[in-house]
Amino acid sequence: THFGYKTVNKDDKEKLVKGVFSSVASNYDVMNDVMSLGIHRIWKSHFINRLDAGMRPGASRPLDFLDVAGGTGDIAFGLLEHAEKKYNDRLSTMTVADINPDMLAEGEIRFQELKWNDGSDRVNFLVQNGETMDAIEDNSKDVYTIAFGIRNFTDIQAGLNTAYRVLRPGGIFACLEFSQVDNPILDYAYQAYSFSLLPLMGQLIANDRESYQYLVESIRRFPKQEEFSNMIEKAGFYIPEKGYENLTFGVSSIHIGVKL
Ligand code: SAM
Repeated sequence: THFGYKTVNKDDKEKLVKGVFSSVASNYDVMNDVMSLGIHRIWKSHFINRLDAGMRPGASRPLDFLDVAGGTGDIAFGLLEHAEKKYNDRLSTMTVADINPDMLAEGEIRFQELKWNDGSDRVNFLVQNGETMDAIEDNSKDVYTIAFGIRNFTDIQAGLNTAYRVLRPGGIFACLEFSQVDNPILDYAYQAYSFSLLPLMGQLIANDRESYQYLVESIRRFPKQEEFSNMIEKAGFYIPEKGYENLTFGVSSIHIGVKL
């Protein structure tokens, strides 16, 4: 590639990731908008609609959702909103898990202002490393979502194995993540944008060049769609036909796996 980057020692990665998200926690939306030119909002709502999760009328019990690397709660709250609007589901539970207490605290603040804060304990926040998820029992969740989180894991395969462990048979794994652009010309433009403009924008808008630099590099290092699909399969999941969906030429993609 023309746009080289520094390599990060694996041991330092967890610390680095912590620092990045602690420093962006309060202007996190700004970061997302800068990173994706605002498109992440569309991707997220597509992800939620495509999953179409919610307790169906006549179902024997509510669903247990787990949103990992949930951060400020975009996906978690979006899923709850969808379940309520479309299926009148006000019973399914949601656990928002994130390794970073600052991101999670931001999510909790937002939660206080939302209608799901109805005094029930069906939504809870948990500081957890997605690679291990010590506090989550085996076979205890129906829907596992992770959006723009798994590329920050030090050991991605461990994260996928854990997703498999915590899901019930029949449970769904769904991941939304930055991916690789398949068209070489578009990819060239995209790389030029992300390696030169993004860190500069990070500096100008958020006064935080390093964090944006890290984010760009982490996207580049993340496995290609096919390879990531194979890792999901390796964790034990069944991959439905056409295991992934590219969004915006592959700038992002959605991967789905089913625990049979
Ligand atoms: N899912 C949210 C969204 O789409 O808006 C937040 C995504 S944010 C870009 C990435 C999140 O991953 C951060 O909140 C970070 O703390 C979290 N994270 C990074 N490594 C993690 C790990 N090993 N386990 C759990 N969360 C992790």
